[in-house]
Amino acid sequence: MFTQDWAPKVSALPEDLRAMISAARKYGLRQEGLAFERSILDAMTMWSHGMAEQEDLRKLSTESAVTRCIRLNHKASTVGEFRTLAERAKHVSHRRHRECTCPECEEMIVSQRCANPDRCYTRAEAILDTLPPKWDPRGKHPEDYEEGGGGKDARRRGGLGDF
Ligand SMILES: [Zn+2]
Ligand SMILES: [Zn+2]
Repeated sequence: MFTQDWAPKVSALPEDLRAMISAARKYGLRQEGLAFERSILDAMTMWSHGMAEQEDLRKLSTESAVTRCIRLNHKASTVGEFRTLAERAKHVSHRRHRECTCPECEEMIVSQRCANPDRCYTRAEAILDTLPPKWDPRGKHPEDYEEGGGGKDARRRGGLGDF
């Protein structure tokens, strides 16, 4: 549903998405009936994401050593960049520890001057967790079903049923 407090944020959205939303409005479609491609979800700016749980996002983004590191050293600003950062923690040899010396952490320390990679992965993940499933590129999305020839059923599962 397009609620009033949601509307002003539209100006901050990437152009493609803005066009889709105005089309949706024009044809009276409900926002939850729209499914966006992962590339669009990834292009959204994470720090000011209008669809995130605002209170949690604000708390988790508060200026601190870890948010500064994410912003300045890892240069993460879009959802996709946060996802890449959070995914580093999935490396087989990564340990959820400050002193981890897995290849991912080593790269973070050496080339991105990160003092505590695991803390940055953890925070990036927590920030991504403020996104509702529909806006979170990490889960399954309609495009994931399309290749298997899922057809109508896939579309229904993907939440396109409102069309
Ligand atoms: Zn590691
Ligand atoms: Zn860092």
